[in-house]
Amino acid sequence: MLRRLNLATEWDELTILGGSRAGEGTLLLLPQLSLALDIGRAHRSLTPMSTVCISHGHADHLGGLAYWASQRLLNSMAPGTLLVPGNIGDEVADLLRLHARLEGGKAYAVNLVPVGHGTRHHFRRDMNLEFFTTDHWVPTLGSRLVWTRRRLLPELRNSPSEDLAARRRRGQEITYEVASPLLAYGADTGPGIFAQAETLAAEVVLLECSFWNDDDLDRARRFSHLHLSDIVNAAPQLTCRHLVLLHLSRRNRIKDVEKIMAAELEPLFDGRLHHLIVDWE
Ligand SMILES: [Zn+2]
Ligand SMILES: [Zn+2]
Repeated sequence: MLRRLNLATEWDELTILGGSRAGEGTLLLLPQLSLALDIGRAHRSLTPMSTVCISHGHADHLGGLAYWASQRLLNSMAPGTLLVPGNIGDEVADLLRLHARLEGGKAYAVNLVPVGHGTRHHFRRDMNLEFFTTDHWVPTLGSRLVWTRRRLLPELRNSPSEDLAARRRRGQEITYEVASPLLAYGADTGPGIFAQAETLAAEVVLLECSFWNDDDLDRARRFSHLHLSDIVNAAPQLTCRHLVLLHLSRRNRIKDVEKIMAAELEPLFDGRLHHLIVDWE
C-alpha cells in the first residue's frame, strides 16, 4: 500500500505517491511528471513512469527495476529513460540484459543515461533534474527537480504587444528564465547533506530518517544514515514548505514515530511535516 501526498506548491498541487522502509524498499513516484526518484519495489503504479532515477546500488532503491522494464515492454510502451549514477551504470545495464535473457524475449527498451554530481537532465519543457552527491557509505546521488519558466523582462512589462512583436522579429530577447527548486530528494545520506544549502532550499524536501532511538546514533553514523537528532538539530533552520520523512528502519513502529513527529518535530519546524513510511506486507 502506497501513501499519497498532495502538496500545495508554487508550481501546482504536487502529488507524491510512495512508500519507504530502510532495507525493504523506497519507491517514490511523481505521477503528474511520469517520474520516479527511486524504485525499491515493484508496484503497478511504477509502470507508467517514463523517467526513472536510481540513487545508488542498494537493493532497497532498485528492486523494482526489472519489473518496470518488463512491464513497459509487455504493454508496448515507449522506451523509458533510466538515470543511473555513472559508477554503477555498467552493472545496471548488465542486470537489465540478464533479466531480459531470463525472460527469453526481446531486450528491454530502456535508454540508460549515466549521471553524476552536477549533471542537469532536461526532461520536460518546464522541468530539469539535477543531481548531487549525498553523504552515504557508497556513492549515492540525490536529485533536485527544478521548475523553469520564462517571464517578460521587467523593463518591457508596460510595452504594447506590437512593440514586443517587433522586438521579437528583430531577434531581441524579451524574456528571462526563472528557475525554482521545486523538490529535493536526499536519498540515503548522513548529516553531511545539511551542508548543502542549495539542496535544502527546495520547496519540498524529502529526507531519510532511518533511526529514531537514542541508542541507535552510533548505528546511524556507521552506515551514514540520518538519526532523529540530526533532523531535530536541522529543523529550526529549514526553510522548505514541506518536509517529507522516509526510510524508517524496522527498529521502530510507524505509529510511535508519528507521535514523535507531532510532539517533538512539528514545534521546531515552520513548514508542514509529512512522511511516506509504510509497512511493506
Ligand atoms: Zn536505503
Ligand atoms: Zn543505501
